Amino acid sequence: MTESTTEKLVVEALAGLDLAGRVRLLTGATFWRLWPAPEIGLEAMVLSDGPAGVRGERADEREPSASLPCPSALAATWDEGLLRRVGRLLAAQARAKGVHVVLGPTVNLHRSPLSGRHFECLSEDPLLTARAGGALVLGIQDGRVAATVKHYVANESETDRFTLDARVGERALREVYLAPFESLVTDAGAWAVMAAYNSVAGATMTENPLLRDPLKDRWGFDGVVVSDWFATRSTVPSALSGLDLVMPGPLGPWGPALLAAVSAGEVPADVVEDKARRVLRLAARVGALVDRASTGPRPAVRSAATPAETSSAATPAVAGLAAVGTPAGHSGVGSAAVAGPSGAGLVAAAAVRGEPARPADDAGADPAGPYARALLREAAAAGMVLLRNEGGLLPLDDIASAGHGPSSGPETPLAQDASPGQEVPAGGGAATPGRRRIAVIGPNATLPRGQGGGSATVFPPHLVGPADGLRAALGADVDVVTATGVRAEPWPAPLTVENSRDPVTGEPGLRLRFLDEHGGERHTERRLSGRLLFMDSPALDGCAWIEATALVRADVTGRHPFGLAGMGPFELRVTVDGVDTVLFDGQLEPPDGDFVAGFLRPSVWWDGVELTAGQEVLVTLRHGLMAGIPMASFGLLAERPSPPPAEQLAAAVELAASAHTAVVVVGTSERAESEGVDRTDLGLPAGQDDLVRRVAAANPRTVVVVNAGAPVLLPWRDEVPAVLLSWFPGQEFGAALADVLLGRAEPAGRLPTTWPTRAEDCPVLSVAPVEGALDYAEGIHVGYRGWARRAGPAPAYPFGHGLGYTTWSYESIDAPDAAPSGEPVQVAVTVRNTGARAGRTVVQLYLSRPDSAVERPARWLAGFATADAGPGQAVTVPVRVAARAFAHWQVDPTDSGGWVTEPGTYELAVGPSSVTLPLRAAVVLTADA
Ligand code: BGC
Repeated sequence: MTESTTEKLVVEALAGLDLAGRVRLLTGATFWRLWPAPEIGLEAMVLSDGPAGVRGERADEREPSASLPCPSALAATWDEGLLRRVGRLLAAQARAKGVHVVLGPTVNLHRSPLSGRHFECLSEDPLLTARAGGALVLGIQDGRVAATVKHYVANESETDRFTLDARVGERALREVYLAPFESLVTDAGAWAVMAAYNSVAGATMTENPLLRDPLKDRWGFDGVVVSDWFATRSTVPSALSGLDLVMPGPLGPWGPALLAAVSAGEVPADVVEDKARRVLRLAARVGALVDRASTGPRPAVRSAATPAETSSAATPAVAGLAAVGTPAGHSGVGSAAVAGPSGAGLVAAAAVRGEPARPADDAGADPAGPYARALLREAAAAGMVLLRNEGGLLPLDDIASAGHGPSSGPETPLAQDASPGQEVPAGGGAATPGRRRIAVIGPNATLPRGQGGGSATVFPPHLVGPADGLRAALGADVDVVTATGVRAEPWPAPLTVENSRDPVTGEPGLRLRFLDEHGGERHTERRLSGRLLFMDSPALDGCAWIEATALVRADVTGRHPFGLAGMGPFELRVTVDGVDTVLFDGQLEPPDGDFVAGFLRPSVWWDGVELTAGQEVLVTLRHGLMAGIPMASFGLLAERPSPPPAEQLAAAVELAASAHTAVVVVGTSERAESEGVDRTDLGLPAGQDDLVRRVAAANPRTVVVVNAGAPVLLPWRDEVPAVLLSWFPGQEFGAALADVLLGRAEPAGRLPTTWPTRAEDCPVLSVAPVEGALDYAEGIHVGYRGWARRAGPAPAYPFGHGLGYTTWSYESIDAPDAAPSGEPVQVAVTVRNTGARAGRTVVQLYLSRPDSAVERPARWLAGFATADAGPGQAVTVPVRVAARAFAHWQVDPTDSGGWVTEPGTYELAVGPSSVTLPLRAAVVLTADA
């Protein structure tokens, strides 16, 4: 569909709606859906999180979603081609789930490493954020699914996020925090932007003047501004601002109140018309506005079930929510050709702006299919950052050659590695003579973390653990053994299909019963996980209680831990040999009384039950629901007994000593790094530093894998030979890790954010507002810019750092001596692979201007390019420096200000990181014509 056809369709549809019909479009019909209007050919659009996968309307392990590497890991690839393919995968996932609008990417910056959503953002640098985010937007929209750039703007932390007022100077706002949004709107052409919870300069973002200028007026954004969930607090001020869509629905401050405000003359009718036009334009773009005159093919996104037609005005929440349909199968649009991971098979050269080509297939729609698995594995490896590699310990060529050689990957098993309770005996058992042994040790080895927490969470089809990945890659000749060493968390993990049976059918898993207030069963189903999440779920309609039951068999004698996680009333019972024992009967309070935190990071309670081997326990958890709120988040937890901590540690150390190589996987979790809460420190959870030191002392061939989404402190980093940062790498964690450890893939990642040695060294750390305000006092000096401008401790690993498996010489830079101001500058950089393996370097170009008349960062990233070369090979890569890279925002109190480029000399510094910059040049910008 061309731009003009879209507009024609929109104009016609708009004409078919009266004022009430237009107002109705501006608030959701449900938690995730908008209202349909069949009379004008409008289907109900579905919106869904988020940046690391597409959850769909139901958070349910039986309808899994592809789990991507976390956004920090995606940005660490610095590879826009790869990210565009990842964006297309998101689109395929969205189409398969009937989703029209993906709520991502998140382009807030890594301002402080304490931010709870750090993992969900891309980088500390505005240019890298813009280019990585732009590639994702293009990829998503290639698939005729809308991307939503969020959270506009200055939402860099979680503490008091609903009320926080970000005090950001005008230059920092324009040059740093708004810059990625500007690029994603003006260059990538994003179709939606989400207004944040916080305020900027005293005005909450759903009412903030920044929605008009610069977003709509200066940048010409013609898409939809959607509120963050429950962020809209007023009728008239928010309607008069640039906000277009209030989410969720069906209640909210618009609806009848907005109609009344129009009648009273407080909101002009053409303001409503503009908003409705934008919603209809979005619908046309994603194929949800059908040209009723056309007999052509149906639109790209599978048509979503239509909510019952009820009045938006006075619809009670539950009635509206009960109407939510159940997602069905795939869209079946286009040819059946399956593209390879390179993206061939998608219609070539989708338009950069406006109307992309129709997707030619649904490659990636199946999250466990070969296309999605191969691409996610490639992306996870490409984002892994080799921080240290003394003596070339990695890749593990020698152990690899002992195995069967490269395999196509772990098709099976797909389950996680052994649960933390399933320990090897002390001493690790004897190594089999003639076979090499690799010990995979640590809390995140046996309980790997694929993703961070909060709204970005999806339910993946599987999570390949580190040991399973290595086993599949190494074949039968290498023993891969595991030990936890230090538990990640003291409480037991949610039930899995491995350790529970449905008491009704006997199949793996647990039974859920949805009960009304009299205990009557409204619905029952088998589930596959003890982690249960209901967001706007019709299954909760009319329910007062949910009951989860499972049979758990004790395979050892000892004290077996059982527990629950959640918020609200619970009763936990175990029945052993016909005897019922109530373990818990009471209320779990949310942490710090925060409802959102209680939902995202539920409180936990657990206790032990003495069992003898062979005994089977019926465990029953009853959870009382909040009246009228169709949401619940809780967990039924159980594990086999763990040995005492000292024994676990000793067993892990002995296992390490017995192995050819020890791989220690340490890190955080989706609970430690989550939306809704900031971290309080950067240390690894208790005991992990000690574990690393003990293992490294026992085995000189120790590789530490850091499984975290944001910087953590690595106080032992100079005491171990190799450190590899895997991030939260998504569902193919172990497969990608094996590829990298064994040298079958390059650890191609480079840090998108600075890693400090100590928290107190960070130029910006605090995320705690003072009297409601968070002062962005560092101005434009965020991230490496802040580190570079002051004397003081160097970071552990600087922005842009990453070693890869080969070495590079930065040989020459070819830049013009002079260039006209306001034009891009083309630079060519020649690098040579001086090592013995093919590899990749990321050529980074920084600008500086020491004698500037205005305050400047010490240096700032102005361009980059990836360079791939074989051993001994030299390659020349073009690096484009956009005209904007030279400009600064001129604050003018009498005017709204503007971009200005100082004429004169700018220094160019090029190298493989922000502190290793061997190539230098200067360019003189001539004055504006
Ligand atoms: C988050 C958004 C998310 C929305 C819907 C909010 O809490 O801040 O990023 O898209 O919920 O889940």
